[in-house]
This record gives sequence, structure tokens and C-alpha cells, in this order.
Amino acid sequence: MNGRQISATTRVLALGLSAAAFGLLASLPAQAQPRTAVNDPIRDLVGRLDLEAYKATIKGLSQFGDRREGTTRNRAAVDWIEAQLKSHGCTNTERIKYTYNAPPQPAQVAPSLAPQRGTTIASGEVRQGAGGSRLRGITLPVTPNSSLEAQTDPALRALNAELPMPGPREQVYCTKVGATRPDEMYVVGAHMDGRSFGEAADDDASGTALVMELARVFSAPDVVTERSIRFALWNNEETGHQGSQAYVMQREPLQGKEDPPGSGRYPEPRWLGMIQHDMMLWDHGMPRPDGTVSATQRPEADINIEFQSNSKLAAASMALAFLVRDANEKYATDYPAAVGNHMTNTDSSEFMGLVPAISLRENERGMQIGAGWNPHYHQPSDRFTSYSDQDFRLGLNAAQTTLSAIAQLADAKLK
Ligand SMILES: [Zn+2]
Repeated sequence: MNGRQISATTRVLALGLSAAAFGLLASLPAQAQPRTAVNDPIRDLVGRLDLEAYKATIKGLSQFGDRREGTTRNRAAVDWIEAQLKSHGCTNTERIKYTYNAPPQPAQVAPSLAPQRGTTIASGEVRQGAGGSRLRGITLPVTPNSSLEAQTDPALRALNAELPMPGPREQVYCTKVGATRPDEMYVVGAHMDGRSFGEAADDDASGTALVMELARVFSAPDVVTERSIRFALWNNEETGHQGSQAYVMQREPLQGKEDPPGSGRYPEPRWLGMIQHDMMLWDHGMPRPDGTVSATQRPEADINIEFQSNSKLAAASMALAFLVRDANEKYATDYPAAVGNHMTNTDSSEFMGLVPAISLRENERGMQIGAGWNPHYHQPSDRFTSYSDQDFRLGLNAAQTTLSAIAQLADAKLK
């Protein structure tokens, strides 16, 4: 099959499944019709994304170091994100409050300075990765850095020195309210907390900045969406998704309830889908046998959209994944997207039993990130300066991809 045939097949698959599985996509006839450049508001909206603005937001988040949950630097980052959302016109910000009593900190482990060598998986050998994935080729162990001393920059070491305290936690979201269906909503998310004493630039300032950029574009005064869109910046992802878990526990029962009755206001619109963004920048390929990874992006770099085939709503989540892939084909300027079925280890896992849920990443979490493809993953080197414009452009293309998909799903128009 050539690419055109694959695309047509996935479109039929996505639309057919969605009609059966969650109905909503069937209400989008406009999507099946070719749009021309002049009458396509989605192309206009995608054009409002910009590499320099995306980079500036990642840089802005990096001023709070690794933004580890339960610290002053994490709380300062939540305040900064809220101020940015408001300045972008997403003024109805709200906070979710919950408590996280962190377990006692394990002793800090100094990193091994001995270079690790790659392990080649033998022909026919089946090695399991996270989320139901299967590891292939050359793999490296992924061990999170837990040593402050491993950060070689003294200023960043000082910024990251405070350890988490148990107690209250907060996270922020804002909402584009739908014009005619304010009671229905898509949730677009990323986690703002990080770890490992760097700047958590890729994990996950890159996803956080993407969500903030989408909030900016959709909040422009000339943009109308028929359905609502919520832009959520989770806390406590790195300790086990407690922020998104708190959101689901507190808000899930409120879905679709008009409050006050007759007001036309829906504090928690009914959830139609959830799209998570976690590590958006680095796609440099498999480790080499000597344990090194290419310093430059691989020519085949792509965005990885994943759903979880073991989840209750797998069919509807798969339909959503292929719809997002199709949006990438139409609107992303540089990089393609691929769909995988092993979504894992991120906040969308908290939603997948309740609503169609997918994640977008630089690589598949189980088979690739989990096999050592990103040498900065949970390391002190996850800093803004560790990435090139090519890397940032991969993240920007993920922003274009989600923006164009959500614009279709929420039925965005320009006044
Ligand atoms: Zn992450």
C-alpha cells in the first residue's frame, strides 16, 4: 500500500469506529471534505503557532529548575503558568487542590560514571517493555538520577536543592468555553512537575509549553469553538500521576451538570476525550552498541500517538488516535505521526477507563524511551540548552497536530 491508501484506510477506520464507539466524530462531516487554503480556519489557527514562542515558553519553565513536586520551585512554576494563561486570554483559570504525602526520600545515589554498554536483544528473544510493549534491537537501562551532586551547574544545583515536603498540592487549568455546546469538553494536558535536578525541559516543559501555546491560540478573541476545551497542567505526574488522579476523583462526578441550574454554565462539561503530551523533543534513534546515542535528530523522526489496547475504551481511543494522525497528515509542517497501542506511564492513563484517551510523545514510551533512546530522560542534562531547533520543531509539529485535531473536534471557527 502506498501512503495515500494507508491514509484512506485509517480515515475509514477512524470514522467507522468513532461512529460506533463514541458517536461524536460522526457529527463532523466538514472534516471529510477537502478544505482549500483560503477557506480553512484550521490552517489559519495552525499558522498562529510559532517556533520562537514555543521555545520561549519552554525556556520560561526552565527558570524553575526541575519543578519537583512539593517544593517552592514547583509552586512558583504553578503561579507562573497561571499568570501566563491569563495573559494569553485564558482568564478563567482554576486550581485543583489535593494532598500528597510523599514517602520518605530514598538515600541519594551517586551516578555510576562507568559508561553503560548497549544490550542487543537476540533474534526471537521476547523482552517485555512497559505498557505491554516489546523491546527490540539495542537497549540501555533507564535509571533516574537521584543525586543533586550530579548537577554540574552550581546555580542550577542551588535552585534544585530543596527536597519535597508532604502536604497540600495545587495544579492549574483554564477552559475555552464552547459557544453552543458548553456542556461538552475535550481535555488537553501535560505535566508541569519534573525530577532529577535539571530543568525538566523535555520531561515535561515541552508538553506543558505545547498546552499553553494551544491555550493562547484558542483564547484569541476571534476564535469560536462550539464545544469546550480544557487546558490542564498536571502536578505530581512523576510520583505516580496523583495530580491527574485528584482531578478525575474530584471532577468526574460533576460532568455535564449545569450549575446553577438554568445558568447555561457547566463547571465540568462532559468529557469527550483526553489528549496528553509528555516528552515532545527528542527522536534521535536507537542507542549504539557502545551505549551512545546520536547527537542529531534521526531523519525518520516522528510523533508517536499511543492508546492503550488493554483499556476499556480501546476502540474509541484508537479512533481518536487515528483522527489525530490524520490531522497531522493534513496540517503538520515537517514531521509525520505514527500510532501505537501501548500508551503508558503518563496522566492519560488516569482517564482511559472513562473517556477516549491518548498520549503524544517524541517516541513510544515502552519500546523506545523505556529502552534508553533519550539520554536526557530523568537526568540532570534535561536542560533547555541540550536541544536543537530541530528537536524543538518536532515538539512544535506535535502542537500543530493536536491543535488541528482539537479544532476539528471542538468545531473551531474564526469570527
Ligand atoms: Zn513525563
